[in-house]
Formats: sequence, structure tokens, C-alpha cells
Amino acid sequence: MQVEKPEIITKDQWGGEAPVGEKETHEIKYVTIHHGGVEFGEDKDPMEYMRNLQKFSQDDKNWMDIPYHFCIDLDGNIYEARPLQYPGDTNTEYDPTGHALINVMGNYEVQKIKPEQIEAIAHLSAWLAQEYEVPTDSIATHKDHSDQTVCPGEDLYKYFEDGTIINRIEKLLKE
Ligand SMILES: [Zn+2]
Repeated sequence: MQVEKPEIITKDQWGGEAPVGEKETHEIKYVTIHHGGVEFGEDKDPMEYMRNLQKFSQDDKNWMDIPYHFCIDLDGNIYEARPLQYPGDTNTEYDPTGHALINVMGNYEVQKIKPEQIEAIAHLSAWLAQEYEVPTDSIATHKDHSDQTVCPGEDLYKYFEDGTIINRIEKLLKE
């Protein structure tokens, strides 16, 4: 059985703009999980977050687009961000070339990750692993690649540490 493509809210649906300019393309070899690093409450509108993040990325940071390829909200909905063929951007020292980047909205140093978010991370990662032949030991988090960050935050990282997320991905890939 194949891992079914998860439902993804497109840029058109959240009101996003096209990427600005061109950049060398890359081949996906890793899947890397981030958090936004800013606390995100149930009262916030994830589509507005996407539009603001894109505006900040393009206008203030001069990046072509949102630095990540996908974002996940508090309910586990997945949003399309930068086109996957372009490497992401980062404020830390690792090179994001070859990484498919998933950002979970919120700050998991201070807030708790929800089961539906864990499931969305696992489903999206499993689908990416299947499509790009990424081995499961190349699915990890930002802090596994950089000493300069606590990203994706303690409460999300613990599910990588105890194997919950990787086990779920492996199960989805075997089904
Ligand atoms: Zn990060």
C-alpha cells in the first residue's frame, strides 16, 4: 500500500503570493521538523499567520518565500508554503539544501503539542519519505542539525526522542 498524499491547503486557499525570483533547485534527502518559535493560541487565524509569515519572509528577510515548505496548525491542518524544489532558508548555521522543511505553528518550549499535530507530522513525513525515497533515519528536527537552536521545542522534541513519531512513520510506510 502507498501512503496517501495528505490533504494540503494550497497557497491559493490561504491567499499566498508566488515566490519572488529564482533559486537553484535541490533534491530532497532529508525531512526536517521545526516549530515557529512564537506561541500560537487557539484564537489565532492560521491563514493570517501564513500571510504574515510570507510577507515578513519576502519583505523583511528578502527570502523568495516562507523559509519552510509546509506549515501545520494547531488542529493538524497542513498548508503549502515554499515550493519543494527550492531549498529553504534559515537563521542558523546548517545548510537547508536537500531538506524538506516542515514548520509546526507555535512554541513547544512553552506549549503542548496535540495528538492531531503529531499525526499530521507523521503522515506528511511518511508521504515525503515515500515520494523522495528518504530513509527514516534522515527524518529529524532542526536541533539535530544545529547547535544554535532548541527548535522544535521540548514538548515536540520528546516525541522524536522516545521514537513515537518515527515509529508512526514506519508503520504508515509499511501499511
Ligand atoms: Zn527550526
